[in-house]
Amino acid sequence: MARRLLVVGGDAAGMSAASTAKRALGDALEVVVLERQRWTSYSACGIPYWVAGDVPALDDLVARTPEQHRANGIDVRTGTTATELDLDAGKVVARTPSGTETFGYDELVIATGAEPVSPDVPGADARGIYGVQTLADGQRLLEALQQDPQHVVIVGAGYIGVEMAEACVRRGLETVVVGTHPTPMPTIDSDLGEQIAAEMREDGIDVRTGVTVTGFETDADNHVRAVVTDHGTIETDLVVLGTGVRARTELAAGAGLPTGVKGALPVDDRGLLDADRNVWAAGDCVESRHRVSGHQVYVPLGTHANKQGWVVGRNLAGGDARFPGIVGTAMTKVVTLEIARTGLGEQHALDAGFDPLAVQIDATTVAGYMPHARSMTVKVVVDRPSRRLLGAQIVGREGAALRIDSFALALWNEMTVDELMMTDLGYAPPFASVWDPVQQAARAAVSRLGPPLR
Ligand SMILES: Cc1cc2nc3c(=O)[nH]c(=O)nc-3n(C[C@H](O)[C@H](O)[C@H](O)COP(=O)(O)OP(=O)(O)OC[C@H]3O[C@@H](n4cnc5c(N)ncnc54)[C@H](O)[C@@H]3O)c2cc1C
Repeated sequence: MARRLLVVGGDAAGMSAASTAKRALGDALEVVVLERQRWTSYSACGIPYWVAGDVPALDDLVARTPEQHRANGIDVRTGTTATELDLDAGKVVARTPSGTETFGYDELVIATGAEPVSPDVPGADARGIYGVQTLADGQRLLEALQQDPQHVVIVGAGYIGVEMAEACVRRGLETVVVGTHPTPMPTIDSDLGEQIAAEMREDGIDVRTGVTVTGFETDADNHVRAVVTDHGTIETDLVVLGTGVRARTELAAGAGLPTGVKGALPVDDRGLLDADRNVWAAGDCVESRHRVSGHQVYVPLGTHANKQGWVVGRNLAGGDARFPGIVGTAMTKVVTLEIARTGLGEQHALDAGFDPLAVQIDATTVAGYMPHARSMTVKVVVDRPSRRLLGAQIVGREGAALRIDSFALALWNEMTVDELMMTDLGYAPPFASVWDPVQQAARAAVSRLGPPLR
């Protein structure tokens, strides 16, 4: 009889694991996926661009439907929520559209993702307050936008808040963003964060930083009408939450499985959570190892979820794949400003025990004399004694953000700034200056550090 793999969660991590294992083992593996929503393999990352109007329809954000997965031999059960794990018996109890069902398994993958953190303040359950975590959330927000609201407050100035601010301002709404940090994008050092705030204000977004939301005022129908903060009250027609996420691990923790950093599941590099009882986990519900700091961290991003799911799928098929950790690379944009980061910022480098030197340069996205040359700023953080690159951050116009990948590869390979400065990056005037901005930043660090450059 075929062994049975049961996957809880049918998005990036869960479906990557399911598809990879099924493709490798075919009929030798029965694969059942439980997904509480209607969709599988969808892109939450695309929601801000769907709301902005760049992506025409919900269907465009679904990479593979439940029907397509079924055609590949995967038994996808949508509308089915796993409620209880019995690890010793190898069983999962689930709420299905028609009642309760128990699913036995030989191997279990937990890929339950993350859940949004809502502000724990009075009025937080009011109508007119929207999350953007799921396609259903996006749908509800788009329906509300059909009612022609004039004012929106975005709570949270991280990357989701910033992306939603762009979406709303481009739709013609009076848009206010409130965030607790002194500058938007807390994962970017505040000197570059100031540039982001300035740009957002220039784009017509009212950015209010260092502000904490203390409640929501509602009307007689319990619809939000104002956001109350420690710096005054902001009237609004609707609210969008970008207040971060936490690992959705209630199911796993309820079965006695361990939790680690920020409540995420501490898997090993093969994705195993409990080797004795054949429990694997991947995606936004697990922690990862940061290759620069050496610390376990919680960084819930689709880029990791897909790879971790693939690793688990390969290992379920008898392979020995490893998820090698992360360096903290991320990018986003607000209107025409691109924002990217990798590795450690200055403070994180200090906290991790390094002796950091931070160097910043201004450059152009392509050769300065080209008509489409645009400005960009690059900041690098370097460990003084070892001269090793520790991190990089970029803000700039079109063509700036993707440069972060060169820095990410340098971090991955523990390169010094001396080495990075001399790498063979491409040059032609329409694409880069003769010293690419990556190398200009490395060179500036080298000259601040002084010898040796042999
Ligand atoms: C607005 C937005 C923009 C983003 N932009 C980016 C980006 O630009 N780049 C990037 O790398 N990442 C981005 N992300 C993050 C990315 O979407 C996630 O990291 C990725 O979706 C994680 O995949 P996952 O499979 O681990 O979890 P999820 O996508 O959360 O999937 C988990 C699935 O499990 C299901 N589930 C949970 N509990 C149960 C249960 N008990 N029973 C059955 N089913 C259950 C859920 O319904 C869900 O479908 C963005 C996220 C959002 C919300």
